[in-house]
Amino acid sequence: MISATPVSPPSGAIRLVAESSVPVVSAAAPCVVLEMPVGPSYLVLPSGGLPALSAEPPPGADAGVLLEPILPPRRPPRLLLLASAPGRVTVNGHRAGRVSVLGERDQFRLDGSLLFHVTLFTRPRVGPPSGALLGRECPVCRVPFASDTTAFHCGCGGGLHLVGTEPNDDLLQCARAVSACPRCSQPVVLKEGYSWFPPEVSHA
Ligand SMILES: [Zn+2]
Ligand SMILES: [Zn+2]
Repeated sequence: MISATPVSPPSGAIRLVAESSVPVVSAAAPCVVLEMPVGPSYLVLPSGGLPALSAEPPPGADAGVLLEPILPPRRPPRLLLLASAPGRVTVNGHRAGRVSVLGERDQFRLDGSLLFHVTLFTRPRVGPPSGALLGRECPVCRVPFASDTTAFHCGCGGGLHLVGTEPNDDLLQCARAVSACPRCSQPVVLKEGYSWFPPEVSHA
């Protein structure tokens, strides 16, 4: 996999939203949200318990499903799914082979268990320009990033000036002037949250 550079972690992180009609999920918590860590994780589905992710294979011989986020620098995050045997996993209602690559809004189920929706949670990285951005030109206004300005950091490693936090030049509203990063074409999301949430699941 391609690892993210330390100065520009991806702004979108993959989360799994599990829904179920079986009573492992209470009315107070109608869904379970699992945040995918970087690197491979096993999906643990204890009988009668809540689903979880583990770096270690679940106890017993059945590894079930191994998941790993794919974080390409200029593309939306993807989720690599490896099933221990073909046909155990259904993806979007269809039986899948051993390897699947999932994106936002895809859904999968292992052995008829809980249904998992793939979602993207964005935590915008806003603050003083990173070391990699300092002195580089903003792709919108062509003004170099100065240390006393505030920048939106895109997952691709690029940046844009952000409005309202420029003490000397409040005209640099570059992150709000464009809907997509000129470098990678990914949408500029300035608000923390899900870009999509499964409508079947009430958002607690
Ligand atoms: Zn700018
Ligand atoms: Zn970008």
